[in-house]
Amino acid sequence: MATINSVLGPMDTADLGFTLPHEHLIDSSAGVNATYGELVDRPWALETAVKDLTQAHIEGVDTIVEVSPLDLGREVSLMKEVSERSGVQFICCTGCWLDIPRSFWGRTPEFIAALWTREIESGIDDTGIKAGIIKVATSDPISENEELMLRSAAKTHLRTGVPVTTHTPAQSRVGEEQVRILKEEGVEPHQIYIGHINNTPDKEYHRELARLGVWLGWDINNPFGRPHLPSWEKMTDYLKELLDEGLGSNLMLSHDWNVVITRLASPGFPNREENPDGYLWLTRKVIPRLKDSGVEQSAIDRMMKGNPRRYFEGLRPES
Ligand SMILES: [Zn+2]
Repeated sequence: MATINSVLGPMDTADLGFTLPHEHLIDSSAGVNATYGELVDRPWALETAVKDLTQAHIEGVDTIVEVSPLDLGREVSLMKEVSERSGVQFICCTGCWLDIPRSFWGRTPEFIAALWTREIESGIDDTGIKAGIIKVATSDPISENEELMLRSAAKTHLRTGVPVTTHTPAQSRVGEEQVRILKEEGVEPHQIYIGHINNTPDKEYHRELARLGVWLGWDINNPFGRPHLPSWEKMTDYLKELLDEGLGSNLMLSHDWNVVITRLASPGFPNREENPDGYLWLTRKVIPRLKDSGVEQSAIDRMMKGNPRRYFEGLRPES
């Protein structure tokens, strides 16, 4: 049992319940939501998010980890209102995605870690809402400034104890390189969640990450997956194979879903009409398929409840 930051204040990890560890409300850019209302219909986004997440809560979703940092248009006040009205608990993040602010370039990891630590210990902007996770993202190969973000995330983690979660272009196994850099800074593997591992059906990559002792984010789930990947049915059957190999002790599942996405030309991001299940795609489609293929409820509970709790409590994956 441990106390972590939710957008509504401190929460007990025993209350995390069914947790989606990689989701978004609005996928945008720093400052855009406030300045270019043409791109984000905020009142619509709020009401739609409340409606979608109220339904998700009815169907068993307890907690969402909202991994949009500043440069993805993070809106913690929106998360707070959605959480209060839907009943779904939200954990928000500090850190950085791929649009690294130029103000960070060339700084030291210590300088940036001080900014991010403040968002965990004192709060974000003037809201008093504290971050409960550190997000970091890289391309492949990892650029100089992305490496700076990784090292800054590591230093923030060492100061606060808050775990690290990554955006990872997995077709290239760059997650292993992310782990290497984070470990070099002193982060223990079980404090690291490597995201988007289902961007590739590469068993060697998945086995190696599990062997390293990190958490595996099987966190892109929708009817279309990504254009270069096999169908969601085939990917779910592949997931069953990983569970049969014992990787269930490291796996967590999520959607990488948004109510609003302002980016154009992002293949693999279906719209609401194409994926009306949104935050419930796993509950309604993937989990039933896993169970039909013989996966026990206890294995589902471990991925959806036990592993997120262990991650936030700073415990290692069960061996
Ligand atoms: Zn994401």
